[in-house]
Amino acid sequence: MTSHAKPLPSYLVQRYHGWKATTWEENKAWYKRLAMGGQHPRAMVISCCDSRVHVTSIFGADQGEFFIHRNIANLVPPHNPDGEHHGTSAALEYGVTALKVAHLVVMGHSGCGGARGCHDMCCGHAPQLEDRASYVGRWMDILRPGYERIKDIADEAERVTALEKQAVVVSLENLMTFPFVRTAVEAGELSLHGLWNDIGDGGLQQYDGASGTFVPL
Ligand SMILES: [Zn+2]
Repeated sequence: MTSHAKPLPSYLVQRYHGWKATTWEENKAWYKRLAMGGQHPRAMVISCCDSRVHVTSIFGADQGEFFIHRNIANLVPPHNPDGEHHGTSAALEYGVTALKVAHLVVMGHSGCGGARGCHDMCCGHAPQLEDRASYVGRWMDILRPGYERIKDIADEAERVTALEKQAVVVSLENLMTFPFVRTAVEAGELSLHGLWNDIGDGGLQQYDGASGTFVPL
């Protein structure tokens, strides 16, 4: 028992009832089929927790289509089977080995607070993130190799955008350190994709592995 849990605020209860009476009611056979048949998503997406990142909306995806994991700055840590708690690696393991998704998309975005925090920490302006006890700070350590690559860009705004894109690149690199990812990629059963979403203008850029650049879609 935990006495800290409270009833939902009424605006959420009302919205739920609205959804149940319309979207669910009109598609209930489909929902029943989803429930009976289990999930068979074709793609896994790793995106940021940022509330403005709306991957299902961008791709018009319905229930059952995307297996989605969200974390701060859409980062994938390196493979590290040390017996500790690894939420992102667990989602990855399940998506690739149990669901056998065919596509794995890492999606970064503009105005990413996580990437900004990493930037400020790396240039000495965010001592609170350097604290060993900072969960965000230690999570952003994953992106430090990306900062090293972009730190000489003179303009600060350009530097931060470049770091947001590095969050995608570093994650794509780290994905290949997981043996089950590497095996699936080399067998042609899984393809990796990198995207960066410009929230304001709705732009989507795709990482081109051959040139190492992001190209607008
Ligand atoms: Zn973000």
